[in-house]
Amino acid sequence: MRLLVVEDDAMIGISLRNGLRQDGYTVDWVRDGAAAELAIAATAYDAILLDLGLPGRSGLELLAHWRARQNPVPVLIITARDTVADRVLGLDTGADDYLVKPFDLNEVSARLRALLRRRVGRAAPIIENGPLTLDPASREVRLDGNEISLSAREFGILHALMEAPGVPLSRSQLEERLYGWQEEIGSNAVEVHIHALRRKLGSDRIRNVRGVGYMVPREP
Ligand code: CA
Repeated sequence: MRLLVVEDDAMIGISLRNGLRQDGYTVDWVRDGAAAELAIAATAYDAILLDLGLPGRSGLELLAHWRARQNPVPVLIITARDTVADRVLGLDTGADDYLVKPFDLNEVSARLRALLRRRVGRAAPIIENGPLTLDPASREVRLDGNEISLSAREFGILHALMEAPGVPLSRSQLEERLYGWQEEIGSNAVEVHIHALRRKLGSDRIRNVRGVGYMVPREP
């Protein structure tokens, strides 16, 4: 899952970036609206954490602009403005959720999981597909009830594929989810992780779709 943090306060930006990385997210951090616009033009983010008080264009202006362009990316506002009127305005401008500073990273992470769940129309917190289950909160993967130990990248790939069983994702879509700016991507990195996943889960759990990419077949 790839996140964009738009926050001009360095201390908060760094703590969000580091904390969310520890939770397994790929995180890009920018400090103003111009940089945020460049980032979302280049990258498909799974969610955006948006501060309201930014130099230049405010967070609300940015949000209104994205929604006017029909950009559906889930947005979690993180701000020190905590009046009811501020929260109502933020949500009515198109935010999906609203968190007031100072916040606890565990709560940020839990709200993100809820946003990402709703984005794919899923009510249950645990993703199930046949004998395979994946828990985004505990980052546990089980096959027939037995826990399978995965690396962070392997988990990321499986999570992306299991969010949409039966839908193939290309190598570049998977790379975009897994690697932030300035992260070196080996030319066959995704293939290496897929190979490891097949070794751990069984070779038919992840299919090649020729010319397209990879998918987890939908199982009852
Ligand atoms: Ca600010």
